[in-house]
Amino acid sequence: MKLLVAVKRVVDYNVKVRVKSDGTGVETANVKMSMNPFDEIGIEEAVRLKEAGTATEVIAISLGVQQCQETIRTALAMGADRGIHVLTDDVLEPLAVAKLMKAIVDKESPDMVILGKQAIDDDANQTGQMLAALLGWPQGTFASKLTANGDSLEVVREVDGGLETIKISLPAVITTDLRLNEPRYASLPNIMKAKKKPIDQMAPADLGVDVTPRLETVSVVEPEKREGGVKVETVAELIDKLQNEAKVI
Ligand code: AMP
Repeated sequence: MKLLVAVKRVVDYNVKVRVKSDGTGVETANVKMSMNPFDEIGIEEAVRLKEAGTATEVIAISLGVQQCQETIRTALAMGADRGIHVLTDDVLEPLAVAKLMKAIVDKESPDMVILGKQAIDDDANQTGQMLAALLGWPQGTFASKLTANGDSLEVVREVDGGLETIKISLPAVITTDLRLNEPRYASLPNIMKAKKKPIDQMAPADLGVDVTPRLETVSVVEPEKREGGVKVETVAELIDKLQNEAKVI
């Protein structure tokens, strides 16, 4: 089974993001960047499937600026076999990413494509679903457990009311949820080995995809500062505040 795993380069989850002074977006210059956490889970799952003998090849794909190569190298150090980098400085909206990934799927013919349920920068939660629609493939989104059985896949999904188990046929698109696994740290020998693994580079035009944005960002602002809370001494005081200050009852 051949697996394709998307790995996005995003602002590290420990960084407190700042809005650019001109309000056009979030500051990414001189900010620590890392692999999207849900994509680490995707790589971990793919590598585990390879270790279990279910998968034969794991290909990590990243789309974006030159530094996405570092994200691909991290995936290779975690155990992916090779990388594909679609190089562009343009802003890529989820639909553009889905179209580019479809073009790669058409070339590579994988049995499964694994993406994160969402990228922690745009929180769009769209790319996997759009890719499944473009391919006409089944999708198992928000996966918290995967079991491969020949040409089908059992997926336990995290839904609002609890857990839903579905059976889908391969090839399929999977998006990872937090509880699917706990990603490994790459060991030093594996980081060294990853330097020798191949990464193919191409441009969106090579894949015949127009990535022109369809959305215009009107403005980006910081959330309003929260006011500190107060402690009340009695229930009567609480009710008084709710009635006369907050005016919610
Ligand atoms: P989103 O729909 O933007 O929340 O992203 C969902 C998932 O799509 C991410 O977790 C990644 O697996 C994949 N993805 C989105 N954009 C990119 C990108 N530029 N490069 C690689 N993977 C991406």
